[in-house]
Amino acid sequence: MATATCTGYAVQDANSPLIPFSFSRRSPRPLDVVIDILYCGVCHSDLHTARNEWGNTLYPCVPGHEIVGRVRGVGSGVTRHQIGDLVAVGCMVDACRECPSCREGLEQYCQKGMVGTYNGDDNVLGGHTFGGYSSHIVVPEDFVLQVPDSLDPAGAAPLLCAGITTWSPLRRWGAGPGKKVGVVGLGGLGHMAVKLAHALGAHVVLFTTSVSKVADGRRLGADAVVLSSDSQAMLTYQSSLDLIIDAVSAPHDIDLYLDLLGRDGTLVQIGAPDEPLPVSAFSFITGRRSIAGSAIGGIAETQEMLDFCGEHGITADIEIIPIQQIEQAYARMLRSDIKYRFVIDMASLKTA
Ligand code: NAP
Ligand code: ZN
Ligand code: ZN
Repeated sequence: MATATCTGYAVQDANSPLIPFSFSRRSPRPLDVVIDILYCGVCHSDLHTARNEWGNTLYPCVPGHEIVGRVRGVGSGVTRHQIGDLVAVGCMVDACRECPSCREGLEQYCQKGMVGTYNGDDNVLGGHTFGGYSSHIVVPEDFVLQVPDSLDPAGAAPLLCAGITTWSPLRRWGAGPGKKVGVVGLGGLGHMAVKLAHALGAHVVLFTTSVSKVADGRRLGADAVVLSSDSQAMLTYQSSLDLIIDAVSAPHDIDLYLDLLGRDGTLVQIGAPDEPLPVSAFSFITGRRSIAGSAIGGIAETQEMLDFCGEHGITADIEIIPIQQIEQAYARMLRSDIKYRFVIDMASLKTA
């Protein structure tokens, strides 16, 4: 199969920094779209994967699954996108499209396994997929999203993972007027959870470990902000919340948050620490509470989320960096020192 050279940044093993890397992308098949990448958000999953914290990384690894770019070329059968369109690619670039999950628009739960934008099986060229820290990407048209014109392209990039990963559970568990929603951890995902839950009309309570984020929490849309180290303040929320979205990237005490759920409340774990989270049976026997998980979101609901953000003027709060600063960005992310998403300006690749 014909290919074209792509330039990007990759890690070669768990202990090395990201460095310039050239590799091949396929030429478009009839239903493929070729996208020049303008911006790529930096998700904590990129960092977990680059460092092999989940034990499943295929090297060399080119991370990046919050991609916004412009269509440069289309295959002969493409009808949904045109050359010049501002488009986006999230965490998946394909799925079987036939299993019950795919047929329900839940491609992220494809029973044959969805194809991750990076670290997935490349069913066309063989080997594994390479992500958005790169100059261009080739994706089947059904896995390419349209970005509303009203949104800033750089600020829209994090919607493709942080946005959809919080939107999907907020919608599934009915966040809206009359519901009290807790958000744990004000990082990339957490700050989108606050913005989206607020825009959906829920009462939002943010729980953070960072004193420096308290004022921001309110600005982003939280009705109340609680420092999780303040046990008195935590007590006042006991048994009061309908839903908690836990977006913390590191091991932490989830019993503390289960206690804040009212009867039949649900804690949805979306943060993915590399260590198990211990939990006391009494934390969820009490009040018939549930613990759930949620992975990104399907393609149709991703477009729904993008359109909602277009209508409400919602983008991420971002800090734009050149690709050459990615290691410093990872180090700051590990210190929870980012307000609230790094986005790589891919034009910087040319200055490498
Ligand atoms: P992030 O920007 O680094 O934010 C994580 C936040 O968690 C931090 O800002 C901090 O918030 C809090 N935190 C960090 N360390 C903590 C600790 N030791 N104890 C308590 N709180 C701590 O990360 P992200 O990109 O939002 O990703 C969050 C997690 O979601 C990652 O594990 C990522 O892999 C996962 N993820 C899952 C999915 C999915 O499909 N389920 C999709 C994308 C990402 P405060 O400063 O406010 O405390
Ligand atoms: Zn992500
Ligand atoms: Zn499937």
